[in-house]
Amino acid sequence: MDFLYGPWREGYFTDDCSECVFCDISNSPSNDDKNRVVFRNKDLFIVMNKYPYTPGHILIIPHMHLDSPEKLPKDIWLNMFDIAQDSVKILYEYGANGINMGMNIKSAAGAGIPQHLHLHVLPRWTGDTNFITSIGNTRVYGVDFDSIYNKIKLIAKKHLG
Ligand SMILES: [Zn+2]
Repeated sequence: MDFLYGPWREGYFTDDCSECVFCDISNSPSNDDKNRVVFRNKDLFIVMNKYPYTPGHILIIPHMHLDSPEKLPKDIWLNMFDIAQDSVKILYEYGANGINMGMNIKSAAGAGIPQHLHLHVLPRWTGDTNFITSIGNTRVYGVDFDSIYNKIKLIAKKHLG
């Protein structure tokens, strides 16, 4: 089971932990294409996970740098889950047969970036659950990163404006 949550735990912060990568993305709207930001509004942004478990793995991240949900203003929390509902539509349109959605809150719960709350939403396909397929998907994703980003961004525009 640990494997399931492994891939995105490593990587993001392995080189330099002195700054928060999510705050960097939040504060640089002019770099949204470079950072693979799919959507942003006043409360939050959606970004492609740089270390996806499956192709199309996205993160919904509030702009506020907080490490636990109860610290977030209620309206922003609700907006996150409003957007999460639309994200499910987006991923179905992208072709997903199923969706995993969840949060790892703080290091003890396995958060890869424990200092900044984020919600994982990832598409799943029938038969993609075994180890080999997962590795295969990750490799395919690496090759098709831009095309997957562009496709999801296009679908997101339709659903989120
Ligand atoms: Zn942050």
